[in-house]
Amino acid sequence: MSEAIRDIVVVGGGTAGWMTAAALAQTVGTRRYSITLVESEQIGTVGVGEATIPMILLFNKVLGLDEDVFIRETNATFKLGIEFVDWRRLGHSYFHPFGLYGADMDGVGFQHFWLRWARESGDWRHDAFNAETLAAADGRFMRTPPAPNLPKINYAFQFDAALYAAFLRRYAEARGVVRVEGKIAGVERDGESGHVSRLVLDDGRTIGGDFFADCSGFRGLLIEETMGAGYDDWSRWLPCNRAAAVPCARAGELTPYTRATAREAGWQWRIPLQHRTGNGYVFCDAFIGEDEAVRLLGQRLDGAALADAKILKFTAGRRRKSWIGNVLAIGLSSGFLEPLESTSIHLIQAAIAKLLTLFPKTGFDPFVVDKFNREMALEYEQVRDFIIAHYKVGERDDTPFWRWCRDMVPPDSLAQRLEVFRARGEVLIDQKELFKETNWFAILAGQGLLPDDYHAVADKISSEELGLRLGRIRAAINERVAGMPPHDLYLEKAGLLG
Ligand code: FAD
Repeated sequence: MSEAIRDIVVVGGGTAGWMTAAALAQTVGTRRYSITLVESEQIGTVGVGEATIPMILLFNKVLGLDEDVFIRETNATFKLGIEFVDWRRLGHSYFHPFGLYGADMDGVGFQHFWLRWARESGDWRHDAFNAETLAAADGRFMRTPPAPNLPKINYAFQFDAALYAAFLRRYAEARGVVRVEGKIAGVERDGESGHVSRLVLDDGRTIGGDFFADCSGFRGLLIEETMGAGYDDWSRWLPCNRAAAVPCARAGELTPYTRATAREAGWQWRIPLQHRTGNGYVFCDAFIGEDEAVRLLGQRLDGAALADAKILKFTAGRRRKSWIGNVLAIGLSSGFLEPLESTSIHLIQAAIAKLLTLFPKTGFDPFVVDKFNREMALEYEQVRDFIIAHYKVGERDDTPFWRWCRDMVPPDSLAQRLEVFRARGEVLIDQKELFKETNWFAILAGQGLLPDDYHAVADKISSEELGLRLGRIRAAINERVAGMPPHDLYLEKAGLLG
């Protein structure tokens, strides 16, 4: 059998499937390749996944999407970061912004200078040194052109995932992607290579292909059920295994951020879209029953419920291999990490970007496949550690769930990172990591972990100069934020309402 790729089949039409089809149509195109997407309306999609991180701008840019059209089509709001309520302890909240703290400080992280300043002045509010945090607190937002000496405002979106998939479907179909409605009932493999050769639909139709992107959701129709990839279960660190999701009517002002409130056995999300507010409770069923979680969520909804709670079940972890033979899993079929930092859509995007870089035009080189699998494993593990840190660092011990988190032994990779940060204020990250030093600082400081010491460079300048420099940074941030209108008003005035 020739391994040259001509016919690409995308299995599934959720966010992962349509992002993959759209990206393939835009990059490799449909002149040389046929791109077919199979989905089943009867099975449907997971139907959640509304909050994103700034990398989504890059994906939209690759597709050449007009941002204003995208916002209107998906009823999107802007997102400056995530507010974490009751995580460190009950009654405490902090913000994880998308942008930097402070400014470039002589080649070392701003936190070193801030720590010295806080010790000398007794003012421990690191929030004052981040523009997104201050804008979010005031409910302000505006896209800002770069300006000398003023901080850049980083943002992402909160959008309706179903509308996004529909938008990308129109985009992909306009570029030659063929959509097939149907339920896959069987999968045929080539006896010699073991590669998937054909999908068999329940009405007898068949779809042949050379390369299959498995975007079939949690079950992993091809990667697991056919290729038997196996799953690394991470619930010993991330025990939450259920979510109750309730879409609600829009309530109050459109806050330009997502809220994550720690609860007795997990946490609750609040994601404001233009037309409704997403609410949900991510929990561990060993610590709270489903009925009780739904009941408590019902009491804590922001906005009137538009539907009954939908229960979703999952296990934190990832497929041992995302790419086997001619099957490559993208989205929920390749792994799941709870949406605490809104990373799933990013992981879809990361897999697509790697697939495009390593596109198997002439076949399946095992070295290329290994490279993809190694890199995806790292992506998942790095996000995993970041999420575990939210549970592990902090003071809560008021319920059995939080005591479990306190006593949990974190992965070595995270334990070492926390140790170094505690001792010297540095976060030892790899260059390509999604979450940078500034993100780790936001979470660790927010959760109450402050370093014992800071970098020697922060002692280079005098106290007076340090005060002056930090004062100038604060003034620039305040100027930037004061110039922004309320988020609601901006959406309206900029013609962005859907
Ligand atoms: P799905 O949406 O499940 O799509 C699977 C597709 O495969 C469907 O079209 C289905 O019809 C098709 N299919 C399956 N079997 C067959 C078959 N036999 N025949 C034909 N078709 C078939 N991500 C974020 O980035 N931000 C968030 O805020 C966020 N919140 C989340 C909250 C929760 C509670 C959960 C569970 C997830 C959240 N996610 C979030 C993750 C996000 O929802 C997913 O990453 C995203 O929706 C992609 O899903 P998918 O396309 O992989 O799977």
